[in-house]
Amino acid sequence: MLGNWRWPSAQSRLLLKSFQTGARPHAFLLTGPEGAGKRTLAKIYAAALMCEAAPQDRPCGKCSACGRAERGSHPDIAIIKPGDDPDSKARVITVKQAREARTALSSKAFEGRHKALIIQEADRMRPEAQNALLKTLEEPEAGCVFFLTADRRASLLPTVRSRCVWVPVPPLDISLATRVLIERGMDERGAAEAARFTRGAVGSALRYDGEVAPVAKRVRGALSGVRSFGDVPAAARLITAVYDEAKDPPERAIRANRVFESMEHVVRDALERLNAPYTAMDASLNLIERIERASARTLLSMLDSLAQARRRSGMFISFASVIDALIYSWLEDIDHAAGGRDQVP
Ligand SMILES: [Zn+2]
Repeated sequence: MLGNWRWPSAQSRLLLKSFQTGARPHAFLLTGPEGAGKRTLAKIYAAALMCEAAPQDRPCGKCSACGRAERGSHPDIAIIKPGDDPDSKARVITVKQAREARTALSSKAFEGRHKALIIQEADRMRPEAQNALLKTLEEPEAGCVFFLTADRRASLLPTVRSRCVWVPVPPLDISLATRVLIERGMDERGAAEAARFTRGAVGSALRYDGEVAPVAKRVRGALSGVRSFGDVPAAARLITAVYDEAKDPPERAIRANRVFESMEHVVRDALERLNAPYTAMDASLNLIERIERASARTLLSMLDSLAQARRRSGMFISFASVIDALIYSWLEDIDHAAGGRDQVP
């Protein structure tokens, strides 16, 4: 856990001091993109509370308390996450789970002076569950520390947010992320590709081969079937299938994110390669090939369309029609452009 951990920001490292000295707030909200390291950071903080080493060395990573914190088996660290309530089919944190957490926290610490509660994916807490938690956040038992992790801060109730110290967990820069991935056993080429695709979110990059790359491949395949506006509906259907295969709404949200990520990557990739030799745009080219030949201005306008589509998805419009409209607007962006990249004299 600590071996090759890179602090995502100076603030996150500075906060560790407060866990070592004991002069710390009792609730923290860690937010950042999927895979940026929020859960690991929460575990490191919790380990610092439980660690048996001298205060300035916590978490030492070597004592038995640190080991159990890392493995998730420390009796004073409770973890709640979506999908753990057998009575609920949806992947959410239920009010029952929030109440159980409260009971667990009100008992005395088994070993040390502290108890920690880590709430993973706190943005999947139902509002009733957030309200149940609120009471505990407002009047915490002595020695209790809360860590909430979420992709976005805005998805929590303002009353919950205002009780927590906010700790942003940004992704690493891409070259550092690549190094971390190599240290964790990826080969150089795979690490560079995964780091670039996930834009430095190491946790996602580690899942790249299994979860991210297959979606990216399907999205790329669908887009390379588009040569004219008539091909858009079929491509949109292929892409929407990725989303429709998910079994519940939270899983669909993850899939939607992966789809947008994959589409964004196609355009960003082209932006990064703008210095490649100029090749003429041609109507026989498929959408991927045209994107690879588009000008910076066209590519930026495509990213803009994508950002708008992301905002619209999850509102009252079906995912299928969002994707359909997005591919249409991409084709339009390219058609309206002057016919490819501005030629360098
Ligand atoms: Zn330790």
